[in-house]
Amino acid sequence: MRSFAWQHPRDQIVETMARIYAHDMTTTSGGNLSIRDEKEGIWISPARVDKGRLRAEDVVRVSSTGEAEGLHPPSSEFPFHRAIYEARPDVGAIIHAHPGALVSFSMCGQVPDTRVFPETYALCGKPLLAPYALPGSQALGEKIATAFSDEAMPKCVVLENHGVVVVGKDMVEAFTAFEALEFAAATLLHAKKLGEPRVLVGTEKMAIGAGVFPMLPQAEFEGRAVSNLEKERRKHVCEFARRAYDHRLVTSGWGSFSARVGEKAFVITPRHLDRANLWAEDLVYVEEGCFEKERQPSRAVSLHEAVYRAHPEVGAIVNALPLHASAFSLSDERMDTKTIPESYVFLKEVGWLSFEEQVEEGGVVAKKVSVSQPAAIMEHNGVLVAGRSVLDAFDRLEILESTAMAILRCQTLGPVSKMTEVMTKELEEAFGIV
Ligand SMILES: [Zn+2]
Repeated sequence: MRSFAWQHPRDQIVETMARIYAHDMTTTSGGNLSIRDEKEGIWISPARVDKGRLRAEDVVRVSSTGEAEGLHPPSSEFPFHRAIYEARPDVGAIIHAHPGALVSFSMCGQVPDTRVFPETYALCGKPLLAPYALPGSQALGEKIATAFSDEAMPKCVVLENHGVVVVGKDMVEAFTAFEALEFAAATLLHAKKLGEPRVLVGTEKMAIGAGVFPMLPQAEFEGRAVSNLEKERRKHVCEFARRAYDHRLVTSGWGSFSARVGEKAFVITPRHLDRANLWAEDLVYVEEGCFEKERQPSRAVSLHEAVYRAHPEVGAIVNALPLHASAFSLSDERMDTKTIPESYVFLKEVGWLSFEEQVEEGGVVAKKVSVSQPAAIMEHNGVLVAGRSVLDAFDRLEILESTAMAILRCQTLGPVSKMTEVMTKELEEAFGIV
């Protein structure tokens, strides 16, 4: 998400609620957001207003002395928002909602293990569980505030038999953690169908994960002439990054997209900038293994660079976080494409990149991803997909995700009948697969 520094708390609440609702992470009646202002007033979404049509003027302010100002009464959950702000001076914004995967965890009295992805651990920390209490009650407020008062200063608390509360220093931080936590929860639910999901353990592994992949050096490209081809590719990357976000194949600040713009040059998404609102000039230029000075490319830039360098035919690459295919990144089970012709023809075999292979120097990734082997599952990091063009890479990403979803759904139907060797040979000959 872009910085909200210049937006009124009312507008921040409206925009964040619209995103949460658009991604089916709340119902029209469930969920409420709040922001604390510098006068200790609390801006909060109102009670009983359609969350799909929230307007700035619907947002209510409750002063430090408890008077509500606005067109509606404040959310019925106002008591727990106030209790959290009282317990935690560092908190500036709160999100409460009932997103599907986290609600499942809450019904089972569990919290998702955020150590499944380095990014979720870095953004969400270790979530806690608050015991059940009547919605809207003082007792619920006290139980939630007690959980947030823990010495670990949690950012996320799952409410037993209810939903989740996520806090941040501001609304962008709270939303980013909220989105990452629901992603981890949803991926874990799918991964559990494949066996006990793996988690990153040991401080060293977490330190590597919370940091970055090997980073490229910087260079000045002063006076560089930008070709029309580059302008066009920048536009394509932004359009497809937006589409990937709308389809929940990436989160707002996590997941990278790039396109080749020259023999030794490509452009890539910037680190952590909102994938739903990228502009052509936001992309970072990379040439001969160096990125533009004082810019911040996606942290996976070295992986992209290694694949472009080794494979001149690769025109675009995406590192995405689709909910189902990412489940395989937490499992010993490998994704089998010999399940439907579309999957085998377009993806051939899906590769595997261990966590060590991703973070070490030397371009191991290029041995596993090319135009003829376009997709790999990245252990604890989602998937990496290459194509001749941006559309090509996006198409393969969608095929990968839809196949993964179908395989996981088969768990409730019965064993998958895999395609035989005769069937795959026939496909190889008919489609010229080598
Ligand atoms: Zn609720």
